[in-house]
Amino acid sequence: MKKVDLSVVIPIYNEEENLPILYERLKKVLEGLDKSYEIIFVNDGSTDKSWEIIKELSQKDPHVVGVNFRKNFGQTAAMSAGFETARGEIIITMDGDLQNDPEDIPKLLQVLDQGYDIVSGWRKDRKDAFISRTLPSKIANWLISRVTGVYLHDYGCSLKAYRAEVAKNLDFYGEMHRFLPALSKAIGAKVTEIPVKHHPRIYGKSKYGISRTFKVLLDLILVKFLLDYRTKPLRVLGGSGAVLLFLGALTLSYLVVVKIVGGQDIGNRPLLIFGTLFFLSGIQLISTGIVAELITRTYYESQGKRPYIIREIIRDNKLEIVNRGVVEEKSH
Ligand code: UDP
Ligand code: MG
Repeated sequence: MKKVDLSVVIPIYNEEENLPILYERLKKVLEGLDKSYEIIFVNDGSTDKSWEIIKELSQKDPHVVGVNFRKNFGQTAAMSAGFETARGEIIITMDGDLQNDPEDIPKLLQVLDQGYDIVSGWRKDRKDAFISRTLPSKIANWLISRVTGVYLHDYGCSLKAYRAEVAKNLDFYGEMHRFLPALSKAIGAKVTEIPVKHHPRIYGKSKYGISRTFKVLLDLILVKFLLDYRTKPLRVLGGSGAVLLFLGALTLSYLVVVKIVGGQDIGNRPLLIFGTLFFLSGIQLISTGIVAELITRTYYESQGKRPYIIREIIRDNKLEIVNRGVVEEKSH
């Protein structure tokens, strides 16, 4: 497979008015970079003329790659497909609605060159409605930063630059694309952010509403789990399970003593309910933890993954760059 320096990945869902303008602006910036490049438009089941336009663009410009989904699978899936298709050593993601500015790309690349694996855009002066978009996003960014320990002002900004070996080794589903910088912590990526420009949406409509905020919160719980306990789920589940089991056993033993030694009736004691609940939940949590451990093993072993990643090995005083633990090419 022919490698290029740079792949730009753009999810497209009904952006027919934006596509030609975006292409022109992007082209101007990329031609000025003195790098080989490709522009990957992933058509996420558009119902307008977006795919026709992408096909036309790719006919007249060999730099344009089109990926056409059979239906609308969502922005995250589109990004994932873009990563898989990309042949670049560096992958840039951005929106197809002209809200991100291609002119920020050189700056992203410059910072990536300083030794980072991901450079994330920060829409410092964001041009979206305050109450429904900017404010919930501020709260979400604060929370995600606190919980994951990867501090960014703007997780929601699509304009980001990734080293390909990092991007291609991130597994993400659902609506997880905004969490990629946080997830990349699990493979030891160095992440930073820089302010980027942001424009109001002129053509087409935004595809999301306020309900996204709640989905993001649920995803955050999963991300936290994946980051801290992916390789040791029994620790968190079994740990709390053991505490409950102990409390339950204690309570029930106490009641047994009360019944046998004290000769008292225990059928009407609230403690009986608590004890039973603690005991059963304890067993539940521990067995869930054990099942999770088995699943974890299947996950790593079936894909030939390692629960660690080696950056380099030194042997006979020679340095071997290995990146071991990272699956080189995923064959789905
Ligand atoms: N998008 C997509 N699939 C979807 C929803 C959105 O590919 O199901 C694309 C959309 O065409 C745009 C980008 O994702 O290029 C961001 O979408 P949008 O501008 O609606 O999000 P917002 O900027 O309002 O957060
Ligand atoms: Mg947008």
